[in-house]
Amino acid sequence: MSWENYVRKVVPYVAGEQPKNQNVIKLNTNENPYPPAPSVVEVIRNFDCEILRKYPDPNVSALADILAQYHGLDSSQVFVGVGSDDVLAMSFLTFFNSGKPILFPDITYSFYDVWADLYRIPYECQALDENFCIKKEDYKKQNGGIVLANPNAPTGVMAEMSILEEIIAANPDSVVIIDEAYVDFGGDSCVPLIEKYNNLLVVQTFSKSRSLAGMRIGYAMGNPKLIQYLNDVKFSFNSYTMNTLTIAAGVASVADEGYFRENIAKVIMTRERTKLELAKLGFIFGDSKTNFIFAAHKTVPAQEIFEALRENEIYVRHWNKPRIVNYLRISIGTEEEMDKMLAFLATLLKIKRG
Ligand code: PMP
Repeated sequence: MSWENYVRKVVPYVAGEQPKNQNVIKLNTNENPYPPAPSVVEVIRNFDCEILRKYPDPNVSALADILAQYHGLDSSQVFVGVGSDDVLAMSFLTFFNSGKPILFPDITYSFYDVWADLYRIPYECQALDENFCIKKEDYKKQNGGIVLANPNAPTGVMAEMSILEEIIAANPDSVVIIDEAYVDFGGDSCVPLIEKYNNLLVVQTFSKSRSLAGMRIGYAMGNPKLIQYLNDVKFSFNSYTMNTLTIAAGVASVADEGYFRENIAKVIMTRERTKLELAKLGFIFGDSKTNFIFAAHKTVPAQEIFEALRENEIYVRHWNKPRIVNYLRISIGTEEEMDKMLAFLATLLKIKRG
């Protein structure tokens, strides 16, 4: 038993369920309902497996270069990792070492406290206001770093750029991470602020807007010094995080901007239509600029709706947590999937109202 005293004990993050049953309408993990770009599929189909004999490029240069070009940055301002979870975890390890508490909202991506616990980083959660907005004053106190998802998850609420800039400017001694996993669905990106603030790290992902959650690609953008420090930690951990096939698929995705824009436009259109229909059914929600809607029903508890949907093979996400227990997070699926969900909800809520 003695070795067990010395184990790094952690309570792991619980990801949304990935059901084996393929018939499930899966609106629980904010995946994109459309396939990756045809050019990505072609790269994978025509991939020359012979090159797998060799190690991949540890600098992930091809992908860093095209991402830099896409965002109007230099390659030295881009760090690529195995999904944004990997990039964020690496960033916590690299930048949050002051011993002072890091700050993030009480309702946000529930991996932040897990990484903080894993690395023994103290943290203080700051309560969002009653509309789930951040209060900028909460982020102007002593801290060892700040991490904000914008738009936030699971609420879908976006903070104004001026508020974020004020927070970044007020914290020159801390790294401020803006997690933009959902920004492509209509949000404003902090990337233009990178040139102005050397303490800003912006993190994005291929998992949502690029339909590549299964490929695992995420990246951080910031001052070359931040990126160098991130690379130092990465190369002290695992030089070859990105495999050769993934790098090629990622490059093809960024190269096909037309498909990317089309894909996003479809998701946004379905989101806006779904909002109108959900409102008619008595749901209330904020003005989500993401690929999900965080909604509460005026009269029927979320738990009941969640369970009824689930029994009918429609999966959404529900957390038994204070303040959000009455909300459902519904990812935007195809038009057909949303129609099925809305039809089911209409019947269910009619029965409940009775
Ligand atoms: N940040 C936020 C806010 C998220 O919701 C997610 C998706 N679970 C991630 C980061 C991680 O996404 P990925 O690792 O697939 O890039």
